[in-house]
Amino acid sequence: MSPRSDDDLEIAGFPGEPQKNEYLRSVDVIYIRPCFVQSDQVRFRAEFSRDIGEMLPYLNAVIPNAIYNHSEGILCYTDALRMVTLYPESMTAMKAKNTTDAHRLAADIRDLINDTYRRRGEIQPCYARRELPSAMDILGWLPEEEYNCGRCGEATCLAFASRLYRGEGEIERCSPLLQRKHAEAREALRSMLR
Ligand code: SF4
Repeated sequence: MSPRSDDDLEIAGFPGEPQKNEYLRSVDVIYIRPCFVQSDQVRFRAEFSRDIGEMLPYLNAVIPNAIYNHSEGILCYTDALRMVTLYPESMTAMKAKNTTDAHRLAADIRDLINDTYRRRGEIQPCYARRELPSAMDILGWLPEEEYNCGRCGEATCLAFASRLYRGEGEIERCSPLLQRKHAEAREALRSMLR
């Protein structure tokens, strides 16, 4: 379990009870922390009650805007502007509206995984990366609190995201992204661009 920090928000009000006899019994929120700029938005990490690695190719097939890296075992997608990353044993999400929304999203992901598992006989698993991230997808992972700071040499974050999209830049040029607090965003972005 990840250590709690002082800025963790209360972890309460999980709307879904653990589901007995289901593939995935629960998605347990480990921490919820504020987004860096908008205090009414949160990011969170949750752990799966079992390893779901075998389900990632099936989820890649059913989630419309998924970006999947099979060798890394990482699947990213956006859900109502919330940015979700699934790993075999855990998940992270950014830009959830609040703690209630975070818990609801965790429960929805548990239900999505269980529903996909029940229907896996009808689903052709997809091991390929199905689409490249757009510049706007990339923009969503850049540090909001330094928006348009210019340290990467570009006038705007969107210009930097467009460069990455064209394969012309390296994410290390965005120095704010190298801070420890952005490790999850950095990892997701590297996986998307690899
Ligand atoms: S350094 Fe990062 S945060 Fe600053 S403008 Fe460039 S991309 Fe945006």
